[in-house]
Amino acid sequence: MSQKLSKNPIYTSFGIEEKHLLQECIHCGFCLPSCPTYSENGKEMDSPRGRLYLMEAAMNGEIDISERFFEHIDLCLVCRACETACPSGVQFGKLMEITRDITLSVRDKSAVSKLFSNFILSVIIPSHRWLSTIFKLGWLYQKTGLHWVTKNTFLKNILPTKIRNINESIPPIPFKRFAKNNLQTFHAIGEKKGRVALFTGCVMDHLFPDVHAATIRILNWNGYEVVVPSDQTCCGALHVHSGDGETSERLKNINLSAFSDISFDSIIVNAAGCGAQLKQYKHANSKNDLAYSFSKKVKDLTEFLATVPLRNPEFPLDLKVVYDEPCHLLHGQGISVEPKQIIKSIPGITLLSLIESDTCCGSAGSYSITETEMSIKVLERKMNHIASTGADCVVTANPGCQIQLEWGVRRRKLAVEVLHIAQLLDRAYRGDPNYLLD
Ligand code: SF4
Ligand code: SF4
Repeated sequence: MSQKLSKNPIYTSFGIEEKHLLQECIHCGFCLPSCPTYSENGKEMDSPRGRLYLMEAAMNGEIDISERFFEHIDLCLVCRACETACPSGVQFGKLMEITRDITLSVRDKSAVSKLFSNFILSVIIPSHRWLSTIFKLGWLYQKTGLHWVTKNTFLKNILPTKIRNINESIPPIPFKRFAKNNLQTFHAIGEKKGRVALFTGCVMDHLFPDVHAATIRILNWNGYEVVVPSDQTCCGALHVHSGDGETSERLKNINLSAFSDISFDSIIVNAAGCGAQLKQYKHANSKNDLAYSFSKKVKDLTEFLATVPLRNPEFPLDLKVVYDEPCHLLHGQGISVEPKQIIKSIPGITLLSLIESDTCCGSAGSYSITETEMSIKVLERKMNHIASTGADCVVTANPGCQIQLEWGVRRRKLAVEVLHIAQLLDRAYRGDPNYLLD
């Protein structure tokens, strides 16, 4: 083997399964119009087909794994819109995850940069203690007015563009996370119909505690007791997308154990990205019965509510609403009708159609931090469509999308509210727009 090819882990590691997955592609190009990065720059290598060509060429040893290879691989949002569009059933998301995983070791990053990203992914994200500290500092940063100063004074001009954009995209940070260090139980209101567990995740637990509170109230009002296991952790989606399969596997095992001793009918998830990942636990090791039964119980909140007789929302909401479909709900879990039915069930609401509602908003996990420039381009396109509808409110079902869309609204100074679907339904149940944690 030449020196060049010995540095190509795709050439040396792609096995029969991966070859088979790649051969599913018939290069028809049907997926190209659905791809946000191709729509932005028109480059074949930034389209799904182009990226599959790159993987194939690397697999055959025709190219080396260079910075240019990573440019195109990294620019992919892993939104999986190409999977929905593909007539041949190419599992693009899976191929991208495998590619990132096996090429992680040959990335030409500095030792410091590798150490830093490894520390964030394997130490910070899975730890509620670390996250609590960081978000409390973030809360202080905003409360003391320092955040306002770095956004609105000359200081913003001396920040590097990337840092400035990240700084501006930070949403309001609450002081407390939702979950506690012990098992919490929230009792059903009225006749008890069942018992479910809530997956609280990593960042969402700290950044959107009100969404968890709204989710629990909705379930309680519909007759479900909700338990929140305390030892659960991040689902591992961020790690899989970044190529860190080892940490993702570790987190999976922590979650399987955290939910194993409690009896419940379903695991409710209100973050589309986490739901898609938790449903994949069973695929990672098909012989693991625990993973199989865990994944079978995972339900997105809207998917679950669609299967129960839903209590009618009592308080009309006079709102013109658009629904922006989270990629990992639509393309990752095939859920699209259910959220729209819930929105339509709320009296007073007008659900408007949104052009390209099935296209990514540019959030994509850590993508808005790592590929900020493309993320903003994709977001701006989305905001153009939202602004053209005249809607008062954009509804989504994923925290990453919520942060991104809120940033888009702030950038445009639009009078548009961004809500998680749980917040919208909770408001229609309570008639109270304030989301105070009980
Ligand atoms: S991924 Fe699917 S849609 Fe895209 S070129 Fe290949 S076969 Fe065609
Ligand atoms: S996952 Fe999304 S960004 Fe990546 S190639 Fe497919 S459509 Fe394009």
